[in-house]
Amino acid sequence: MLKGKVALVTGSTSGIGLAIARAYARQGADIVINGFGDKDAIEKERAGIASEFGVRAHYSGADMSKGEEIAAMVAEAQAKLGGVDILVNNAGIQFVSPIEDFPVEKWNQIIAINLSAAFHAIRAAVPGMKAKKWGRIVNTASAHALVASPFKAAYVSAKHGIAGLTKTVSLETATFGITVNAICPGYVWTPLVEKQIPDTMAARNLTREQVINDVLLHAQPTKQFVTVEEVADLAVYLASDSARSITGAIIPIDGGWTAQ
Ligand code: NAD
Repeated sequence: MLKGKVALVTGSTSGIGLAIARAYARQGADIVINGFGDKDAIEKERAGIASEFGVRAHYSGADMSKGEEIAAMVAEAQAKLGGVDILVNNAGIQFVSPIEDFPVEKWNQIIAINLSAAFHAIRAAVPGMKAKKWGRIVNTASAHALVASPFKAAYVSAKHGIAGLTKTVSLETATFGITVNAICPGYVWTPLVEKQIPDTMAARNLTREQVINDVLLHAQPTKQFVTVEEVADLAVYLASDSARSITGAIIPIDGGWTAQ
């Protein structure tokens, strides 16, 4: 379905981004993976994607908190693979703290990685998409693009910002065969969720089991974590030609969380 397309997925060395990159490769797209982690493990993943799916796979170590590295990553994808047809802005971090103690550097880092990075990548990729009259931009937002939770000021602000960016760029690109959408997962069991459990235990004075059942799954009427594969399948659908009329949409995949 995606043969001949190039997909760049930020934050794809782990979790949701890795599942999306693998799902696009399964559909025949050439892939740029990006993110941090152990060098050997990343190279194994990159080589595995290339051989398992018979596609070209490139790795960029660009830091999503740095605008100039993001622009260079897009330029490199254009030079090495011939363009960025599908851009997934997925890299993200979390930090949990009451507002009065929220570290200023964590606020700045989360706004940079979870919001400004998408601006830089979209800004760099859109000219190539306009020239080809085809493009897909998928932003991994969150249920926190639609509703808030306490102690997540920076994350919720960044994700609400992503919703605004998604809608704005969708209007600017609508006549160029480009769609821009945001996927809003509820809780997906990934390292990002696992890492916030100790801070949430401290912020709310709860045990690990209480955080999982009474905070995380409490929000989700299905009482189940969303899987990375489910999110990846939605990203594949949004990249398909069948989804060409879906643009500017903020799409929950959250087990009913934001229906409440
Ligand atoms: P994860 O921790 O498994 O993956 C995050 C990825 O981002 C990793 O590849 C990491 O290396 C990369 N990354 C972090 N900082 C980076 C930087 N400065 N430069 C480049 N790469 C960087 O987390 P995940 O749960 O897969 O999260 C992926 C996205 O999904 C995030 O935007 C997150 O906010 C969003 N999300 C996650 C959940 C969830 O429950 N897990 C729910 C809703 C939305």
